[in-house]
Amino acid sequence: MKYDLLITGGLLIDPSQGINDQRDIAVSGGKVAAIEKNISAEEAKEVFDALGKIVTPGLVDIHTHIYRLVSYLGADPDLNCLAKGVTTVVDAGSSGALNFPGFRKYIVEACQTRIFEFLHVSDVGLTMGGGIGELEDLRHLDFERTVKVARENRGVIVGIKIRVPQDIVGQHGPQCLRLAKEISRTTGLPLMVHPGALPPNLSLIDVLGVLEKGDIMTHIYPPPYPPLLPRSSIFNENGRLLPEIQKARDRGVLFDVGHGMNNFCWDTAEEALKQGFMPTTISSDLTAASVNSVVQDLPTILSKFLHVGISLYDVIKYSTIAPSQILGKENEIGTLKVGAEADITVFKLEEGEFPLWDNIRPVKEQRVVKQLLKPVKVVKGGSVIQSS
Ligand SMILES: [Zn+2]
Repeated sequence: MKYDLLITGGLLIDPSQGINDQRDIAVSGGKVAAIEKNISAEEAKEVFDALGKIVTPGLVDIHTHIYRLVSYLGADPDLNCLAKGVTTVVDAGSSGALNFPGFRKYIVEACQTRIFEFLHVSDVGLTMGGGIGELEDLRHLDFERTVKVARENRGVIVGIKIRVPQDIVGQHGPQCLRLAKEISRTTGLPLMVHPGALPPNLSLIDVLGVLEKGDIMTHIYPPPYPPLLPRSSIFNENGRLLPEIQKARDRGVLFDVGHGMNNFCWDTAEEALKQGFMPTTISSDLTAASVNSVVQDLPTILSKFLHVGISLYDVIKYSTIAPSQILGKENEIGTLKVGAEADITVFKLEEGEFPLWDNIRPVKEQRVVKQLLKPVKVVKGGSVIQSS
């Protein structure tokens, strides 16, 4: 037999190759072996009929929290990501320099999901809880130790993370952000910034001003955060998108959805898209709590973006090749090019009435979404993970 697995008859969407058409895809030795209009079933040990289904590269979620049992935020990546068609995830700062070794040993090396880390500049990452911000006390930001851990764990650590809302940084916002950017420059890794409800001494314009080519702003469609911010921070008092956002984009800054528990608002997303502010990547920002409430999983978040008017092709682009390019792995994952890892997800696009919430505060809003992406088969590195 020439192939281990053959998936036939599906609508294959692979934006890395500009494919959005019916194709068969064959797998051999854990890699993509062929994509053709017709591949004979006799050439494969196992055949899956995907007629009426959508076949995509395994999804890549560039913002999750999966340091389970250590960070209070940590979800189970195999259960909440891999089984849902997300074969690669980036954990966004759940670990810092002091507790990264545990993340590497007990999460990265113990789970089936392909996992990378954006190392938090706070040496405890997101393990504090109790309403205590991880950067309220600057003794948690150890420049040398963070650089050392990032350098020693190249290959797993692919970026640097900071959160700068007032309840996280207190008065230290500008100083923390400057140090985080310095760590990012010193290590040559991109910086991901979570702005949120910023302190009075730090505006979104200040945050954008620090970001360089390849850096990432996450949580790009936030709700207003009253009383600190009466309107979404991405708009000025006239309801127009901040011009600094476009300027940042022009110099190569990247923009990530980071849905999460507190950072997605239907109205903000719709208005931003109307004004031409598209995401670079769509990510879930899923946590232990949000997988059972407003987030669920990345395919649900993609379905929300179908609802606000982004095409199916583009939501797959923003959750496959776009994040894999940020990781510098565009020939291995997030793509179905021949020779790439055989990470493949087969979806059913269910039609119906599906009520989904955003997380505007103090009042959240429900929308009835008409299409929901449901994973029916997941393949990682050529192995079938889940099939229904
Ligand atoms: Zn997050």
